[in-house]
Amino acid sequence: MTSQSSQQILDRWNGFVTKVTQRLNEITAEADAGFAGMLADPALDTIAFGNAMTALDVRKKDLDQKLSNTFSEQVAIQLAMDTKAEQQAQATLAKALWWMEETWERYRTKKNVELVQTLWTRLEKVWSKPVACVRCGSELQRTIFHKAESVTCRHCSAVNSVTPDPAVYNYFAVAPHYYAEAMALEHRFAVENFKRKLHDEREVRVHVHDDWRDTNLEELLQWEALEKAYWTTYFAAQARIVPMSEDEQKTWVATRMQPLYDYDFNQRNVWRKYKGLP
Ligand SMILES: [Zn+2]
Repeated sequence: MTSQSSQQILDRWNGFVTKVTQRLNEITAEADAGFAGMLADPALDTIAFGNAMTALDVRKKDLDQKLSNTFSEQVAIQLAMDTKAEQQAQATLAKALWWMEETWERYRTKKNVELVQTLWTRLEKVWSKPVACVRCGSELQRTIFHKAESVTCRHCSAVNSVTPDPAVYNYFAVAPHYYAEAMALEHRFAVENFKRKLHDEREVRVHVHDDWRDTNLEELLQWEALEKAYWTTYFAAQARIVPMSEDEQKTWVATRMQPLYDYDFNQRNVWRKYKGLP
Protein backbone atom coordinates (compact mmCIF):
# COMPACT_ATOMS: atom_id res chain seq x y z
CA MET A 1 0.00 0.00 0.00
CA THR A 2 1.18 3.43 -0.93
CA SER A 3 0.95 5.75 2.05
CA GLN A 4 -0.57 9.18 1.77
CA SER A 5 2.76 10.92 1.88
CA SER A 6 4.21 8.62 -0.77
CA GLN A 7 1.24 9.50 -2.95
CA GLN A 8 1.93 13.19 -2.43
CA ILE A 9 5.55 12.71 -3.39
CA LEU A 10 4.51 10.78 -6.49
CA ASP A 11 1.99 13.47 -7.46
CA ARG A 12 4.62 16.17 -7.11
CA TRP A 13 7.10 14.11 -9.11
CA ASN A 14 4.57 13.45 -11.89
CA GLY A 15 3.81 17.18 -12.04
CA PHE A 16 7.51 17.98 -12.30
CA VAL A 17 8.05 15.38 -15.04
CA THR A 18 5.12 16.82 -17.02
CA LYS A 19 6.57 20.32 -16.69
CA VAL A 20 10.04 19.28 -17.87
CA THR A 21 8.79 17.21 -20.80
CA GLN A 22 6.54 20.09 -21.91
CA ARG A 23 9.58 22.34 -21.79
CA LEU A 24 11.08 20.29 -24.62
CA ASN A 25 8.02 21.03 -26.75
CA GLU A 26 8.41 24.73 -25.97
CA ILE A 27 12.10 24.67 -26.90
CA THR A 28 11.45 23.06 -30.29
CA ALA A 29 8.50 25.39 -30.96
CA GLU A 30 10.76 28.39 -30.27
CA ALA A 31 13.49 26.95 -32.48
CA ASP A 32 11.09 26.53 -35.42
CA ALA A 33 11.11 30.25 -36.21
CA GLY A 34 14.90 30.39 -36.10
CA PHE A 35 15.27 27.44 -38.46
CA ALA A 36 12.63 28.83 -40.83
CA GLY A 37 14.61 32.06 -41.01
CA MET A 38 17.86 30.24 -41.75
CA LEU A 39 16.27 28.11 -44.46
CA ALA A 40 14.72 31.16 -46.13
CA ASP A 41 18.07 32.97 -46.19
CA PRO A 42 19.67 32.86 -49.66
CA ALA A 43 23.08 32.75 -47.91
CA LEU A 44 22.02 29.64 -45.97
CA ASP A 45 24.99 28.46 -43.90
CA THR A 46 24.97 24.73 -43.17
CA ILE A 47 27.60 25.12 -40.42
CA ALA A 48 25.50 27.71 -38.58
CA PHE A 49 22.51 25.41 -39.00
CA GLY A 50 24.46 22.53 -37.47
CA ASN A 51 25.66 24.70 -34.58
CA ALA A 52 22.09 25.78 -33.81
CA MET A 53 21.09 22.11 -33.74
CA THR A 54 23.96 21.24 -31.39
CA ALA A 55 22.92 24.05 -29.03
CA LEU A 56 19.39 22.63 -28.91
CA ASP A 57 20.75 19.14 -28.34
CA VAL A 58 22.62 20.48 -25.27
CA ARG A 59 19.40 22.00 -23.93
CA LYS A 60 17.57 18.70 -24.41
CA LYS A 61 20.33 16.86 -22.52
CA ASP A 62 20.05 19.44 -19.72
CA LEU A 63 16.39 18.48 -19.36
CA ASP A 64 17.38 14.78 -19.18
CA GLN A 65 19.88 15.66 -16.47
CA LYS A 66 17.33 17.70 -14.56
CA LEU A 67 14.93 14.76 -14.44
CA SER A 68 17.60 12.19 -13.53
CA ASN A 69 19.12 14.39 -10.83
CA THR A 70 15.79 15.29 -9.26
CA PHE A 71 14.90 11.62 -9.16
CA SER A 72 18.14 10.42 -7.58
CA GLU A 73 18.78 13.40 -5.28
CA GLN A 74 15.22 13.90 -4.04
CA VAL A 75 12.48 11.49 -5.10
CA ALA A 76 14.37 8.23 -4.60
CA ILE A 77 15.53 9.37 -1.17
CA GLN A 78 12.06 10.53 -0.12
CA LEU A 79 10.59 7.20 -1.24
CA ALA A 80 13.41 5.03 0.11
CA MET A 81 11.06 3.35 2.60
CA ASP A 82 8.40 2.59 0.00
CA THR A 83 9.91 0.32 -2.67
CA LYS A 84 6.73 0.07 -4.71
CA ALA A 85 6.30 3.84 -4.94
CA GLU A 86 9.97 4.26 -5.76
CA GLN A 87 9.69 1.77 -8.60
CA GLN A 88 6.67 3.63 -9.88
CA ALA A 89 8.59 6.92 -9.80
CA GLN A 90 11.51 5.29 -11.57
CA ALA A 91 9.23 3.90 -14.28
CA THR A 92 7.87 7.41 -14.79
CA LEU A 93 11.43 8.68 -15.15
CA ALA A 94 12.37 6.00 -17.70
CA LYS A 95 9.22 6.66 -19.72
CA ALA A 96 9.80 10.42 -19.71
CA LEU A 97 13.45 10.09 -20.77
CA TRP A 98 12.48 7.83 -23.65
CA TRP A 99 9.65 10.14 -24.72
CA MET A 100 12.08 13.07 -24.78
CA GLU A 101 14.63 11.08 -26.75
CA GLU A 102 12.07 10.07 -29.41
CA THR A 103 10.53 13.52 -29.57
CA TRP A 104 13.88 15.20 -29.92
CA GLU A 105 15.25 12.73 -32.50
CA ARG A 106 12.09 13.11 -34.61
CA TYR A 107 12.43 16.88 -34.48
CA ARG A 108 16.17 16.94 -35.19
CA THR A 109 16.01 14.57 -38.16
CA LYS A 110 12.96 16.33 -39.60
CA LYS A 111 14.69 19.73 -39.53
CA ASN A 112 17.83 18.25 -41.05
CA VAL A 113 15.77 16.84 -43.91
CA GLU A 114 14.25 20.30 -44.42
CA LEU A 115 17.81 21.59 -44.74
CA VAL A 116 18.62 18.89 -47.31
CA GLN A 117 15.47 19.69 -49.30
CA THR A 118 16.26 23.41 -49.27
CA LEU A 119 19.83 22.81 -50.47
CA TRP A 120 18.47 20.53 -53.18
CA THR A 121 16.06 23.12 -54.59
CA ARG A 122 18.98 25.53 -54.84
CA LEU A 123 20.98 23.00 -56.81
CA GLU A 124 18.53 23.00 -59.68
CA LYS A 125 20.01 26.25 -60.98
CA VAL A 126 23.51 24.84 -60.66
CA TRP A 127 22.68 21.58 -62.51
CA SER A 128 21.31 23.41 -65.51
CA LYS A 129 24.26 25.82 -65.73
CA PRO A 130 26.32 24.68 -68.74
CA VAL A 131 30.07 24.32 -68.32
CA ALA A 132 32.11 25.51 -71.29
CA CYS A 133 35.37 24.04 -72.59
CA VAL A 134 38.28 26.28 -71.60
CA ARG A 135 39.81 25.98 -75.09
CA CYS A 136 36.92 26.08 -77.59
CA GLY A 137 33.98 27.19 -75.47
CA SER A 138 31.61 24.38 -76.48
CA GLU A 139 29.49 22.77 -73.80
CA LEU A 140 31.10 19.91 -71.87
CA GLN A 141 29.32 16.61 -71.25
CA ARG A 142 29.67 16.00 -67.53
CA THR A 143 29.27 12.52 -66.06
CA ILE A 144 29.26 13.18 -62.30
CA PHE A 145 28.05 16.22 -60.48
CA HIS A 146 29.08 15.74 -56.88
CA LYS A 147 32.85 15.43 -57.37
CA ALA A 148 35.59 17.11 -59.36
CA GLU A 149 36.20 15.34 -62.65
CA SER A 150 38.24 15.57 -65.85
CA VAL A 151 36.08 16.01 -68.92
CA THR A 152 37.49 15.64 -72.42
CA CYS A 153 35.89 18.06 -74.86
CA ARG A 154 34.10 16.24 -77.67
CA HIS A 155 34.94 19.03 -80.09
CA CYS A 156 38.59 19.89 -79.47
CA SER A 157 39.70 17.01 -77.18
CA ALA A 158 41.01 19.41 -74.55
CA VAL A 159 40.94 17.90 -71.04
CA ASN A 160 39.02 20.17 -68.71
CA SER A 161 39.01 19.79 -64.94
CA VAL A 162 35.57 20.64 -63.70
CA THR A 163 34.94 21.39 -60.03
CA PRO A 164 31.44 21.41 -58.61
CA ASP A 165 29.81 24.63 -57.50
CA PRO A 166 30.15 25.18 -53.68
CA ALA A 167 26.39 24.61 -53.41
CA VAL A 168 26.97 21.07 -54.67
CA TYR A 169 29.67 20.43 -52.06
CA ASN A 170 27.38 21.82 -49.38
CA TYR A 171 24.60 19.52 -50.42
CA PHE A 172 26.71 16.36 -50.59
CA ALA A 173 28.45 17.18 -47.30
CA VAL A 174 25.21 16.84 -45.35
CA ALA A 175 22.56 15.16 -47.50
CA PRO A 176 23.67 11.49 -47.43
CA HIS A 177 23.79 11.23 -43.64
CA TYR A 178 20.83 13.48 -42.81
CA TYR A 179 18.59 11.82 -45.35
CA ALA A 180 19.62 8.27 -44.40
CA GLU A 181 19.30 8.98 -40.69
CA ALA A 182 15.75 10.24 -41.17
CA MET A 183 14.76 7.33 -43.43
CA ALA A 184 16.07 4.76 -40.94
CA LEU A 185 14.85 6.50 -37.78
CA GLU A 186 12.03 4.09 -36.95
CA HIS A 187 14.52 1.20 -37.22
CA ARG A 188 16.77 2.98 -34.72
CA PHE A 189 13.83 3.30 -32.32
CA ALA A 190 13.05 -0.40 -32.84
CA VAL A 191 16.61 -1.31 -31.78
CA GLU A 192 16.48 0.96 -28.73
CA ASN A 193 13.03 -0.29 -27.72
CA PHE A 194 14.18 -3.87 -27.99
CA LYS A 195 17.25 -3.18 -25.84
CA ARG A 196 15.05 -1.50 -23.25
CA LYS A 197 12.70 -4.46 -23.29
CA LEU A 198 15.61 -6.88 -22.71
CA HIS A 199 16.85 -4.73 -19.87
CA ASP A 200 13.42 -4.45 -18.21
CA GLU A 201 12.74 -8.17 -18.52
CA ARG A 202 16.09 -8.94 -16.97
CA GLU A 203 15.37 -6.58 -14.06
CA VAL A 204 12.12 -8.45 -13.38
CA ARG A 205 13.85 -11.84 -13.63
CA VAL A 206 16.59 -10.82 -11.22
CA HIS A 207 14.57 -8.84 -8.69
CA VAL A 208 11.29 -10.74 -8.71
CA HIS A 209 12.34 -14.28 -9.59
CA ASP A 210 15.98 -14.19 -8.53
CA ASP A 211 16.74 -15.64 -11.96
CA TRP A 212 20.15 -14.38 -13.13
CA ARG A 213 19.96 -15.83 -16.63
CA ASP A 214 21.50 -13.45 -19.13
CA THR A 215 20.12 -12.55 -22.56
CA ASN A 216 19.66 -15.76 -24.54
CA LEU A 217 20.64 -16.61 -28.11
CA GLU A 218 17.18 -16.08 -29.55
CA GLU A 219 17.10 -12.57 -28.08
CA LEU A 220 20.58 -11.79 -29.40
CA LEU A 221 19.57 -12.95 -32.88
CA GLN A 222 16.51 -10.70 -32.76
CA TRP A 223 18.67 -7.80 -31.66
CA GLU A 224 21.18 -8.52 -34.42
CA ALA A 225 18.38 -8.59 -37.03
CA LEU A 226 17.01 -5.24 -35.85
CA GLU A 227 20.46 -3.66 -35.91
CA LYS A 228 21.08 -5.04 -39.39
CA ALA A 229 17.71 -3.72 -40.60
CA TYR A 230 18.71 -0.29 -39.37
CA TRP A 231 22.01 -0.17 -41.22
CA THR A 232 20.59 -1.78 -44.35
CA THR A 233 17.88 0.88 -44.52
CA TYR A 234 20.41 3.58 -43.72
CA PHE A 235 22.81 2.70 -46.56
CA ALA A 236 20.03 1.99 -49.05
CA ALA A 237 18.85 5.54 -48.36
CA GLN A 238 22.38 6.94 -48.77
CA ALA A 239 22.63 5.13 -52.10
CA ARG A 240 19.74 7.21 -53.35
CA ILE A 241 21.89 10.32 -52.87
CA VAL A 242 25.39 9.08 -53.72
CA PRO A 243 25.92 6.20 -56.12
CA MET A 244 26.70 2.99 -54.17
CA SER A 245 26.49 -0.57 -55.46
CA GLU A 246 24.66 -3.32 -53.54
CA ASP A 247 28.01 -4.86 -52.62
CA GLU A 248 29.35 -1.56 -51.37
CA GLN A 249 26.22 -1.13 -49.26
CA LYS A 250 26.69 -4.63 -47.79
CA THR A 251 30.31 -3.86 -46.94
CA TRP A 252 29.24 -0.68 -45.16
CA VAL A 253 26.54 -2.52 -43.23
CA ALA A 254 29.10 -5.12 -42.10
CA THR A 255 31.51 -2.35 -41.03
CA ARG A 256 28.84 -0.66 -38.95
CA MET A 257 27.71 -3.96 -37.39
CA GLN A 258 31.23 -4.86 -36.27
CA PRO A 259 31.33 -2.78 -33.04
CA LEU A 260 28.22 -4.58 -31.80
CA TYR A 261 30.06 -7.91 -32.17
CA ASP A 262 33.41 -6.65 -30.87
CA TYR A 263 32.17 -4.80 -27.81
CA ASP A 264 29.08 -6.78 -26.92
CA PHE A 265 28.06 -10.06 -28.59
CA ASN A 266 31.53 -11.59 -28.73
CA GLN A 267 31.91 -10.99 -24.99
CA ARG A 268 28.94 -13.24 -24.33
CA ASN A 269 29.43 -16.96 -23.78
CA VAL A 270 26.16 -17.90 -25.47
CA TRP A 271 27.18 -16.00 -28.63
CA ARG A 272 30.73 -17.33 -28.72
CA LYS A 273 29.40 -20.85 -28.39
CA TYR A 274 26.91 -20.24 -31.22
CA LYS A 275 29.64 -18.81 -33.46
CA GLY A 276 32.18 -21.44 -32.42
CA LEU A 277 34.51 -18.75 -31.09
CA PRO A 278 37.14 -19.65 -28.49
ZN1 LIG B 1 36.79 22.14 -76.56
